[in-house]
Amino acid sequence: MNLVKRLFSSSNQQLSGLPPTVLEQLAVAPFAVQKFKDAGRGLVAARDIQYGEVLLTEQPYVCCPSLSNRRKVCYHCLKVLPTPQQQAAGAAEMPISSRSHMFCSSSCLSSAQASYFTLESQLSLEQLERHCQAYGERFPLIAARLALMIAQDGMTAAAQQQQQQQGSDSQADPEAGVGRSSSDVGRISRISRMSTGSNGSSRWSHTLATSSMRSSNNLGTTSWQSSSSSNRRQGRPGSYSTKAALGPAGDDGSVHQQVASALGFLCFANVPPPPPGPWAEAHKMLARALAAAAGNREQEEEAAGLQAALQGLDLDWYVAVMARLHLNTFKVEAALPIDWSQGHAAAAAMLGGDAASAGSALYLLGSLFNHSCEPNVHVTFPGNDSTAVFTAARQIAEGEQLFITYIDAGQELDARQEYLAFAYGFRCHCVRCCEELEEQAKHMPPQLP
Ligand SMILES: [Zn+2]
Ligand SMILES: [Zn+2]
Repeated sequence: MNLVKRLFSSSNQQLSGLPPTVLEQLAVAPFAVQKFKDAGRGLVAARDIQYGEVLLTEQPYVCCPSLSNRRKVCYHCLKVLPTPQQQAAGAAEMPISSRSHMFCSSSCLSSAQASYFTLESQLSLEQLERHCQAYGERFPLIAARLALMIAQDGMTAAAQQQQQQQGSDSQADPEAGVGRSSSDVGRISRISRMSTGSNGSSRWSHTLATSSMRSSNNLGTTSWQSSSSSNRRQGRPGSYSTKAALGPAGDDGSVHQQVASALGFLCFANVPPPPPGPWAEAHKMLARALAAAAGNREQEEEAAGLQAALQGLDLDWYVAVMARLHLNTFKVEAALPIDWSQGHAAAAAMLGGDAASAGSALYLLGSLFNHSCEPNVHVTFPGNDSTAVFTAARQIAEGEQLFITYIDAGQELDARQEYLAFAYGFRCHCVRCCEELEEQAKHMPPQLP
């Protein structure tokens, strides 16, 4: 049997929960999912792959701009917006401002509105944003976006149900029919597909990272139980952050259930109770903001639908989401326009650290790449937005595992090992690390007996 088919069928069980579009993408990709005895899941080449070949182009399941650059990138797709000078020259599409957020195009704005932004426009995440700034965190804002997707869906579904009821009660009301069809459009496009205008340069670099060191402290290695020898510490049933906490099983078509399936597919960190303090704090802020929006609603059904959705977004849900974001989120690093008017120090600071990041994004297939300090796959963002392109960094033979790097691979052995253990909870046994370790041992002074 053909390798792709063999691997695809053998791993079918593990792939349950992935959206059909992702499964279709996997079916035609030149790689397949494989379970490794000692390293969990990974991707292997299903045929010989040429240097420079594009293996996968993936749009994020969810993404969020970094706080420091939110005025410079699209709030929905993270596309770098044209500078005022470029806008004056009339070169690019004009960004749209809505509720103090910027969108690259009207289609991004309407995708956002259909998914989370209608509800988000009616509440304030300011407190949560301040919390993120204080802790150097970025994951709570992605969790908030997922929560908004679920809550907005619950809200509109309840209103839609009410309209349907009214429709069947009185066939004479033509307005009811109009309302229903527009709600249907909303439901179809609720899991947002990002629009991708891709004619930008490929100056964007990539690092897959957890949140800043400071926020990673909340998940220090001592509080994480290493549950497998896998490249990423993967949770087991029974841990605090299991799949069940994500939400209802089954197929009721709700966004809550879709998010539960998609995120349930990802590996996660074991977070023993109680959850880290800042997580509980952030969850409280999010829940408060959403509850206030429910209280403000004039329409009774919408308020009830929102209220019901919020019950599923409890602290357990939040922990389960965060435990996945910590291991699977990519940092989308952009060559953003530097504002030298802010002074040299500020401008220089932009060039390093989180300030250079357009935002964070979660990819379902992209999350299956394991780590190596000598990766054979590179990730870039050639559209200057959150669409990730995975390219072969060298020739790859059929059956070889595919690796990306989760860290700055330019670092020394010790620094790499330390960061990987700290942020991802594993010791790297890649070829490069093994060779360098051996080399290091040769130069160690002989041990005293
Ligand atoms: Zn956009
Ligand atoms: Zn390594």
